[in-house]
Amino acid sequence: SQISDLVASRLRDIPDFPKPGVLFKDFTPLIADGPALRELVRDIAQRYAGSVDVVVGIEARGFILGAAVAYELGLGMVPVRKAGKLPGETLKESYALEYGTAEIEVHTDAFEPGQRVLVIDDVLATGGTAEATALLVERAGAQVAAIEVVLELGFLDGRSRLGDRPVNAILTV
Ligand code: IMP
Repeated sequence: SQISDLVASRLRDIPDFPKPGVLFKDFTPLIADGPALRELVRDIAQRYAGSVDVVVGIEARGFILGAAVAYELGLGMVPVRKAGKLPGETLKESYALEYGTAEIEVHTDAFEPGQRVLVIDDVLATGGTAEATALLVERAGAQVAAIEVVLELGFLDGRSRLGDRPVNAILTV
């Protein structure tokens, strides 16, 4: 589609970041391009207009798109953050990284009961981050209406960790 071509043309590969052997997909050229950013945000927003109540952005690149999509939909945005950053009472989930574990949090009172949540991040890789975020949303009493990412690394099969939760990727490689 037009939007996936646009995204593909504005993503860049950075070899050996954050460590040797990793090919990092960098979306800063995409968000630096005003018309491309607007088209991307509108594409995501129109998919969910009327069917979600609040947007969750995952730290840190998910904040950029999450806030823009929430604004476009006239909805609020809830941050899911790395442990220790949120000031109020939080729920916490741990998930495995290649080496060690990571922890993310959400405010305990971030959602109204049953709210339909759109989760947004830039990249779906192994799915650990998105799965932990979905568990936080559900533990906090809301429901995951959809998980939207700009780029899905299909060969890592992150989707398989997300169960029945709907996942949409603008571009899959
Ligand atoms: P996962 O938990 O393995 O699915 O990794 C997804 C998380 O790591 C997301 O929050 C992404 O922002 C980040 N991530 C993983 N790989 C990349 C990449 O190639 N480019 C940008 N972010 C990435």
